[in-house]
Amino acid sequence: MAIERLRENLREHTSLHVGGGAKELVRVSTDEELIDLVLDLDRRGEPLLILGGGSNVVCSDSEFPGTVIIISTQGVDWVGNRVVVAAGENWDELVCSALDQGFGELAPLSGIPGSMGATPIQNIGAYGVELAEFIDHVDVLDRKLGTRRCLSVTDCEFEYRDSAFKKSPNRYVVLAVKLKLNKTLDIPIKYLQLANVMNQDVGTTANAVAVREQVLQLRATKSMLLDSMDAESNSTGSFFINPIVLEVDIPRNCPSYPLAERDPRVKTHMKVSAAWLIENAGITKGFHVDGKDSGIRVSRNHTLAITNEGDGSTQEVIKLASYIRQQVFDAYGIELSVEPVLVNCELDQLSVS
Ligand SMILES: Cc1cc2nc3c(=O)[nH]c(=O)nc-3n(C[C@H](O)[C@H](O)[C@H](O)COP(=O)(O)OP(=O)(O)OC[C@H]3O[C@@H](n4cnc5c(N)ncnc54)[C@H](O)[C@@H]3O)c2cc1C
Repeated sequence: MAIERLRENLREHTSLHVGGGAKELVRVSTDEELIDLVLDLDRRGEPLLILGGGSNVVCSDSEFPGTVIIISTQGVDWVGNRVVVAAGENWDELVCSALDQGFGELAPLSGIPGSMGATPIQNIGAYGVELAEFIDHVDVLDRKLGTRRCLSVTDCEFEYRDSAFKKSPNRYVVLAVKLKLNKTLDIPIKYLQLANVMNQDVGTTANAVAVREQVLQLRATKSMLLDSMDAESNSTGSFFINPIVLEVDIPRNCPSYPLAERDPRVKTHMKVSAAWLIENAGITKGFHVDGKDSGIRVSRNHTLAITNEGDGSTQEVIKLASYIRQQVFDAYGIELSVEPVLVNCELDQLSVS
């Protein structure tokens, strides 16, 4: 069956395990059904939320007043060094399958949860590598024009954790992503922490299979791998993006990293560590507001993650995230941006004194 109606709450379909119900919740497994359904909902002006793995969303506690579509289309087609992957495929399985065939460049992106279709939305990245480096094009349904389109890398406007998809959140449904890869298992190490655990220097190369192993181990120590046995991984990964600031505005001793070469700000701006800012604004691992442990707190393994150990609510997530953002602003005058997509909820206004 291509369209399956589901009864659960969004809590059961998101990795932070918060969120209310939905007027309609369906799983769709063919492009044709997906396109017909989306166009029909758009014609009727019905609210629509697209989900893949639910690992980068925070949904409101109240019912979603429309249809939530979970995409589970399948298909991975290799032709030479190009691969077309359906939106519903699992990202990490693609990384494994590429490695098995001698395409090692995706190894630093190992272990990122979620679906292929969501990977271009925030231009997923980790350990010095971003998805945009490998994109050939993205097949979409353009809801504004009501047609299927093929978007080039330029059309996608990729930046650090940003893209045309994120800038126009209700315009595109990603149907498939085409990647172009080099056939090599010898890949560059671009990130200091990864270089250190591999006993190598940044800029040297390493075997991609070994890189994957080290990345998975590093991620496990930070609860950055989805694991049903590890409650600390009930999160959206990083809750805040590393802020981009002018080089002259980098707080003293705060770690900073260059932007991707393609970013027009690369010569004047740097990314600064959001984790450092949070810790140095006085928020420790395991922190929760009001001294009351609802299960919503800063991860014990990673200051950038908000986790739901128990029965926490979206309201509590918002309260904690707003508090963290305010503390950092008061200490450094830097406004943190939220990484996950907030659905029908938002952080409290910053108070500027
Ligand atoms: C433990 C953990 C670790 C993480 N580590 C990283 C990391 O290292 N780097 C990183 O970049 N991210 C990381 N993330 C965030 C997340 O895994 C990625 O952003 C991932 O790509 C989200 O995929 P998803 O299918 O779960 O998306 P969802 O959460 O389902 O959706 C995210 C957004 O994309 C939209 N969307 C999803 N699919 C489509 C589609 N087919 N068409 C149009 N819009 C769509 C949704 O509407 C929503 O706005 C982590 C998350 C967790 C929980």
